Amino acid sequence: MSAPVPNPTTPFWRTATHELDRHRSTSELPADCDVLIIGAGFAGASLAHFLYKDNPSPPSVVILEAREACSGATARNGGHLKPDVYFNIPKHIKKYGARAAVEVANFEASQVLAVKDLVEQEQIDCNFVLTRACDVILDEKLASETEAAYAELVKSGVADLRDVHFTPRKHAERVRQCKHLKYFKIKNLIIPRYRELRGL
Ligand SMILES: Cc1cc2nc3c(=O)[nH]c(=O)nc-3n(C[C@H](O)[C@H](O)[C@H](O)COP(=O)(O)OP(=O)(O)OC[C@H]3O[C@@H](n4cnc5c(N)ncnc54)[C@H](O)[C@@H]3O)c2cc1C
Repeated sequence: MSAPVPNPTTPFWRTATHELDRHRSTSELPADCDVLIIGAGFAGASLAHFLYKDNPSPPSVVILEAREACSGATARNGGHLKPDVYFNIPKHIKKYGARAAVEVANFEASQVLAVKDLVEQEQIDCNFVLTRACDVILDEKLASETEAAYAELVKSGVADLRDVHFTPRKHAERVRQCKHLKYFKIKNLIIPRYRELRGL
């Protein structure tokens, strides 16, 4: 992995930064620690949070960040927590078998409510919205591949698809009233991120 570049673009989520942005808790770095976390992005902040949560004797933790808190990918994402329940499963079945593929898909899907719980428990102010999502596929090739993958998934019977609705091209335009629409599907969607990380 390459080191973070010194002159990154400013993503939308960083247009108003938090007081923790360049926070430094000690003037000198501690000589030792139990856990050293490199990077204050979503992964690092989550790890620190769960090391401390409900832990009466937490380890000593140092977080080192090359730039500012939440300045990498976490500051650049679309803010969607949207599990893929129909496209990756067939790929994973081929590679790892049905059981492992469904296990991964279920874990991914469970993150929607796990993040909802986290936001509620920690009262994180992050414009969180639990709603429905609709994938619109305009590219012919990708649309065909997705439709085939979805059909394969339905046929395999390994995944619970009751929360997914597939609308084929001939009905898509009528349903969404959009002239260029070809295919779409609906499932869970959530919006957290930069603000959520600051909350952690
Ligand atoms: C454009 C874009 C859109 C995305 N959209 C979505 C989305 O809608 N939904 C979704 O769930 N995911 C999305 N993602 C993916 C998601 O943002 C990332 O998976 C997630 O933020 C990764 O978190 P992280 O903590 O691993 O990495 P980062 O957020 O990149 O954090 C790593 C941190 O480590 C620091 N660092 C790196 N090397 C060193 C070093 N040697 N020393 C000290 N510090 C170091 C970096 O400066 C950085 O702050 C998107 C990603 C991008 C780029």
